[in-house]
Amino acid sequence: MLNLVLFGPPGAGKGTQSQKLIEKYGLIHLSTGDIFRANIGGGTELGKLAKSYIDKGQLVPDEVTINMLNSEVEKHENSKGFIFDGFPRTHPQAKALDKLMQSKDTNISAMIALDVPEDELMGRLKKRALDSGRTDDADPKVIANRIEVYKNETAPVKKYYEAQDKFYAINGLGSIDEITERLFKTVDSLK
Ligand code: AMP
Repeated sequence: MLNLVLFGPPGAGKGTQSQKLIEKYGLIHLSTGDIFRANIGGGTELGKLAKSYIDKGQLVPDEVTINMLNSEVEKHENSKGFIFDGFPRTHPQAKALDKLMQSKDTNISAMIALDVPEDELMGRLKKRALDSGRTDDADPKVIANRIEVYKNETAPVKKYYEAQDKFYAINGLGSIDEITERLFKTVDSLK
């Protein structure tokens, strides 16, 4: 199986590039942010809980997020592999993901980070707010909070994968196609 963690701050292009990876490698895309938003749209209990955190730019608690991800993975018994987009965002989530992969007799192949400078991120998120309908993109205070949370809690997760020799970073600046090409090269080098 090919199991990729796509990593990077809000606005780095994880969602866009995930689509390209799905098409080329036939993977299942699991975006925890998308799943939370679908639950919010559906008015589920999970959605209500998640919304209270997402609206402030805070992380949804680990236990809730990990349980949700575990049950999503269970839904795809025969997949060729997964792209985890927006997960893990904390150290406990990274450990839980390893445990889950082990229980399926597989492992994480690599974490690939999209490197984008902060001033570029702010511009991209402001643009995205105009057409995504995402309330957490619309408020500069919420965006700033998400970037802070990323720096403090999520960026350190990189070390977890570095220690396993599974961390790769690519330049996230340039056209969508240029970035996709860099990603494909990295993924093909894993095989
Ligand atoms: P995203 O679409 O990945 O930018 O996620 C939007 C929001 O959903 C985040 O700002 C968090 O509030 C929440 N969220 C998404 N993934 C996670 C995660 N792995 N752990 C905790 N909260 C998450």
